[in-house]
Amino acid sequence: MNKRTILSIICCIAVIYAFSQNKPKNVILMIGDGMGMAQVNTLYYLNPNSALWQFPYRGTSMTYCLSDSITDSAAGGSALSTGKKTTKGYIALNRDSTANETLMEWAIKQKMATGIVVTSAMTDATPASFYAHVPNRNQYEEIAKQFIYSNIDFAVGGYLNNFLPNKRKDKLNLIDSLERKGYQIIYSLEDLLKATDMKTVGLLSEKKPPKAAKRGNWLAEATRQALEKLAKDPQGFVLMIEGSQIDWACHVNDYKYFKQEILDFDRAIKVVYDFAKTNQETLVVVTADHECGGMTLSPRINNLSKEKAARYLVNYVLFSSLYHTNADVPVFSFGPGADNFQGKMNNIDIHDKIIRLINNR
Ligand code: MG
Ligand code: ZN
Repeated sequence: MNKRTILSIICCIAVIYAFSQNKPKNVILMIGDGMGMAQVNTLYYLNPNSALWQFPYRGTSMTYCLSDSITDSAAGGSALSTGKKTTKGYIALNRDSTANETLMEWAIKQKMATGIVVTSAMTDATPASFYAHVPNRNQYEEIAKQFIYSNIDFAVGGYLNNFLPNKRKDKLNLIDSLERKGYQIIYSLEDLLKATDMKTVGLLSEKKPPKAAKRGNWLAEATRQALEKLAKDPQGFVLMIEGSQIDWACHVNDYKYFKQEILDFDRAIKVVYDFAKTNQETLVVVTADHECGGMTLSPRINNLSKEKAARYLVNYVLFSSLYHTNADVPVFSFGPGADNFQGKMNNIDIHDKIIRLINNR
């Protein structure tokens, strides 16, 4: 073999290697509900060592929906899940009520494993956007019913009552239905840590899940469990993880509540980052469905040392609204194909890019 042949072989291998690097086998979509730029800037003060700063690519996402320039978690979640903008309050439905395929429905068709991990009700707008189709996000009983037929492999969230016959208007026992479908049902974080089955549904609170301070390490631990199980699937997996209550804290302009929730989400990001770094076949996208609270950092923070600013952050985080805003939200990406998530994007582009990357693998 002459020098030239060897060189071209090396070149070929390098190109194939570089190309294969852009083909993720698995996708993890992390949604900080209500997590805008300022929320992420605040995290920088709270945890300068966050794994999020290791994500090499950054972009922004426009969140407006079909009916309003300021979206909600139903239309916002649906855009990320289906790649279609819709009316406020709608879950994975068009304005004319025809269904849009969710990311999980699509993944199941590709024979991939699927997972959802949230700190809201399992039937709340964000998780619902990934498996249900209803014209009103408050149809929790209907959403719970649709969850039974979603075939999601691993799901952890709250609000068990939506599944219990004595708490539902139609008296259906959805826990029985889940068990008949082969799911192991988990009712506490403690039991979740011991869960062995791939097909697991964790409903860790009777009603609305508690705040981070009383929840324990639910999000990070459920994420760890999800990854352990889903990674076994040879066809790859799609996992959606939501820091649900960042939004709730910003609605009530409660900095201390917000701080606990963003740090809770940050712990889940760390688990995901560590997994993806070793796994090397997993694309991770961290973004939000919309901003909430119109959060800003006061200019009075200027010239303060980082340590001092972090300690007294409560005095510098300002809110300008009790509702959502239409401010662009950040997009952080890591892993094969992550370079596709740069610049100014529309929320529906995030869905389309994920589908394209998995289709081309
Ligand atoms: Mg949500
Ligand atoms: Zn909200």
